[in-house]
Amino acid sequence: MRVRVVLFTSDLRVHDHPPLRAALDASDAVVPLFVRDSGIDAASFTVPNREAFLADCLRDLDAGLRERGGRLILRDGDVTDEVAKVVSETDACAVHLAGGVSRYARRREDGLRAALRGLGCEVVVHDAVVTCVPPGEVAPAGKDHFAVFTPYHRHWDQQPVRSVVRAPRAITVPEGVGSAPLPQRDKVPGVSPGLAEGGEEAGRKRLTAWLRSGISAYEDRHDDLPGDATSKLSPHLHFGTIGPVEAAQRSRAAGGPGAEAFVRQLAWRDFHHQVLAARPAAAHDDYRTQGDRWRTARSAREDIEAWQEGRTGYPVVDAAMRQLRHEGWMHNRGRLIASSFLVKTLYVDWRVGARHFLDLLVDGDVANNQLNWQWMAGTGTDSRPNRVLNPLAQAERYDPDGTYVRRWVPELAGLEGAAVHRPWKLRGLERAAYDYPDPIVELSDGLARFKRARGLD
Ligand SMILES: Cc1cc2nc3c(=O)[nH]c(=O)nc-3n(C[C@H](O)[C@H](O)[C@H](O)COP(=O)(O)OP(=O)(O)OC[C@H]3O[C@@H](n4cnc5c(N)ncnc54)[C@H](O)[C@@H]3O)c2cc1C
Repeated sequence: MRVRVVLFTSDLRVHDHPPLRAALDASDAVVPLFVRDSGIDAASFTVPNREAFLADCLRDLDAGLRERGGRLILRDGDVTDEVAKVVSETDACAVHLAGGVSRYARRREDGLRAALRGLGCEVVVHDAVVTCVPPGEVAPAGKDHFAVFTPYHRHWDQQPVRSVVRAPRAITVPEGVGSAPLPQRDKVPGVSPGLAEGGEEAGRKRLTAWLRSGISAYEDRHDDLPGDATSKLSPHLHFGTIGPVEAAQRSRAAGGPGAEAFVRQLAWRDFHHQVLAARPAAAHDDYRTQGDRWRTARSAREDIEAWQEGRTGYPVVDAAMRQLRHEGWMHNRGRLIASSFLVKTLYVDWRVGARHFLDLLVDGDVANNQLNWQWMAGTGTDSRPNRVLNPLAQAERYDPDGTYVRRWVPELAGLEGAAVHRPWKLRGLERAAYDYPDPIVELSDGLARFKRARGLD
């Protein structure tokens, strides 16, 4: 019996899965394998929200495989060792996996090649599984990646995209391959109460509902903070319970300006992935340094705690930070406002904010998180590195009636309309009735400090 292993990583689905398809086409049996990798735990990347979502994803992947006659094999340990064990146990001739972009993923591929060579087992890496366009596929002449989104997007949009791969009808898994028990979401402590459900079935339902009734208004409403009019597909794209190629293809088929704007966001995702693939150090080092001498976790401890807890005294910032804690997810406009406030207004190192987001975000992702933080800090790919988002102007534009703030900052729920954005304007007893802090910084002082730091004054 010819056996191949399919190593699932950030692609926890049976639909549109080129490695699974290729392994099935070339063999009699496959081992669908997921390794809960001790290396990822060691990198402090395992946090309750993503662990709980992952538990849903693994259970659902197992269910999807079982519907087709297969099952998921789960192992715990070092990924290279565990794959090598499964290869030895099953005498597999190849391991198929999706190409990754982070330094960790690249090392994993190299490590697998080195470990499996001696076992006579080939490693087959598949492109266009985790992104639509593989990193490096489009690049300016003489360079290894695009540093500016607009020209990247132009090229990205013209790339031929592979067809969506149909889910297999039948899967044969060799008998006797041992598996660890599947994890349970409700056994994970410290999960955000409003965390979304994970898994391919939930992801596919969300995509279908989005294409039917959300995407057409996306262009006009994607920045509407209380409207919640974005797809919320990011955790599914992160865990690969929805493939980006399928999301792009089905959106393009839906057509219209909403779909165009949505596909452009998928291009942003690919853009950050290709930057990280080319510059893996951008996960922690400035991509383009501005010579900042940031305030740090130690020197700005009180400000950072107020920001993390949603007690800065700026209601829109606090609403966004509380949404993050409650749902393990935050609206993109909220992410922009909250990150600008930390790095520009409080002048705190972007790595502090990125770490806090990674601790809570269910879609927390090295490429998208670190590079969006760098973009906002002006150390990344933004062509206007000194832009500062004024939280009051942002609030009035994207939450004009204050609905978003009242939803997440209930102690201000008694304030009507846009007045909720400026509780410090209340006086005397009226002010005292609201158990809500005064602003921790004057916006003008924050701006002046930032300008001084960047030599713009
Ligand atoms: C400081 C900061 C940190 C961020 N951290 C992450 C993160 O860890 N993981 C993450 O997936 N996104 C991150 N984003 C990008 C963006 O905010 C989220 O992808 C988006 O809010 C997810 O909601 P949605 O699925 O409803 O997005 P939609 O608006 O429906 O967009 C569809 C998809 O496009 C992609 N996308 C949208 N905007 C961006 C963007 N700016 N960069 C990259 N991809 C994008 C996402 O995969 C998203 O699911 C961050 C943005 C900022 C400003």
